[in-house]
Amino acid sequence: METILVIDDTATNIQILVELLDDTYDVIVATDGRTALEIADEELPDLILLDIIMPFMDGFEVCKQLKENPKTKNIPIIFLTAQTDEESIEKAYEVGGNDYVLKPLKPKELMARVKTQLELQRSIKNLEYLSSYDSMTGILNRRKFFELAKISFETKKEDLFAVMIDIDNFKNINDVHGHAAGDIVIKTIVSKIADMLPEESIFARLGGEEFVIVCNYEDEKKLFDLLEEIRNSIKDLTLNIENHLIRFTISMGIAQYKETFVIIDDLLKEADAMLYKAKETGRDKVIFRT
Ligand SMILES: [Mg+2]
Repeated sequence: METILVIDDTATNIQILVELLDDTYDVIVATDGRTALEIADEELPDLILLDIIMPFMDGFEVCKQLKENPKTKNIPIIFLTAQTDEESIEKAYEVGGNDYVLKPLKPKELMARVKTQLELQRSIKNLEYLSSYDSMTGILNRRKFFELAKISFETKKEDLFAVMIDIDNFKNINDVHGHAAGDIVIKTIVSKIADMLPEESIFARLGGEEFVIVCNYEDEKKLFDLLEEIRNSIKDLTLNIENHLIRFTISMGIAQYKETFVIIDDLLKEADAMLYKAKETGRDKVIFRT
């Protein structure tokens, strides 16, 4: 159920809105701007219905502050207004409102406008998802990876690591067992890695059977141990696909930030060189510095 935050200082208005929306949506109520901002930041509703005239902080100011907060800036806002003068309607859009509804409220109109905004929001979220995540594995795709990794590199690079990962002899798995089996192997490995990684890690599929992790880690030894643990737990897996037992291993190359690195690609390049070493020297291993 989608969540709608209703902000209005008049009890009767709130009552009308709650009655209208309550069956279809999860409704939260705030009767003043300051409380509304706190609730919005905490609950991240899908839509906000916002009264304009309120004591202490009016709807325009609430809207402005919602738009200034990165967490709430994309939540659509429908203004509720008794003011029919053009100036306040113009201002409603100027401060970032998506739509407005005139009071007294007409139930069908209100419901239609609410539905439209929520549908639009859903499509936007869906597009964002499609453009950021790999459709097979559900982890970040290459485009989103570079976007996030660049931010990490620019903001907190002192203890930044990159790990390049490649499934060993993957072409072989595809050739012997077919591409459908290959896909299952990829998904299995990805979900194992994702389960074992710290949550803040940036974990992405670069393409094919190649993956990357970028993360801040307190010390290299701990990261190395974690990756060894991941490598071993993948080595221990056996998949039974159409009565064929399939086993597989991965190789990894690690690099740590150095002052000579200017862009994220420098870090990735070194991790890639370590991965190459791992491949060259027999696979199924993690290499960090040679
Ligand atoms: Mg009011």
